Amino acid sequence: MPLAIAAPKYFSDAPDFEYVCPECNVGFLVPDQNTFNKIEPTHSAAAHGHEAFDPDWIEYRFSVMCVCNKHDCGEVAFVSGKGSVDQRYGYDGHPEYYEHFIIKSFVPSPHLCYIPPETPDDVERQLKKSFSLYWVEVSAAANALRASLEALLDELKVPAQQKSKKGDTIRMSLHRRLDAWSDTHKDHAELCYSLKEVGNLGSHGETVKAKHYLAALEIYSYVLKQLFENDAQKMKELAKSIQEEIKPKKG
Ligand SMILES: [Zn+2]
Repeated sequence: MPLAIAAPKYFSDAPDFEYVCPECNVGFLVPDQNTFNKIEPTHSAAAHGHEAFDPDWIEYRFSVMCVCNKHDCGEVAFVSGKGSVDQRYGYDGHPEYYEHFIIKSFVPSPHLCYIPPETPDDVERQLKKSFSLYWVEVSAAANALRASLEALLDELKVPAQQKSKKGDTIRMSLHRRLDAWSDTHKDHAELCYSLKEVGNLGSHGETVKAKHYLAALEIYSYVLKQLFENDAQKMKELAKSIQEEIKPKKG
């Protein structure tokens, strides 16, 4: 099974990405090409004169403004990052140089997974922090995701402390908390062990691959939906209210 949604951080030549607007969740943040500004700093431009100069020495800094295309929303996001020059094969089969950019900041960040409206504030805040950090450093984003999971367990009143063998009160590891949650919510807890693994890599400074982080987000979003957007319960309530409204009119 392919892992999760894509959230590309890279683009070539000119910004061509479009993300769902985090404000209205309907429109798309579309880059305004007129505002795309790439600058080669003096230290990079000065190196062109060097006898060993190669185009892959070139460095750029860029910024671009994105505007939500839903007119009554009009959210504005600023995106910035770095660029370089690379080689590729052109349409005629010959190698050609092209400019390649990586996004390092996206404010406000698009949502990288669906967050149900009933999600508790703390859980949502950590998750949004995670989205913002994704552009900077995936390991840091994974760490914030782990913090969101801890906040979720707090919200669900899963114990956070235990007695040690000596009788002292100590903080439970996330793994231990998931074990405790598993007693009442086995399916959800088991899914969340994988999030813990991805978050652990983040907290130990190891590189977390974007695809693993995004897959963990997809799992987390599913768990949040199950907990805070129970469609089966909603449908029952909807069916009941239809029956209640129709019945008196019949009589
Ligand atoms: Zn919008």
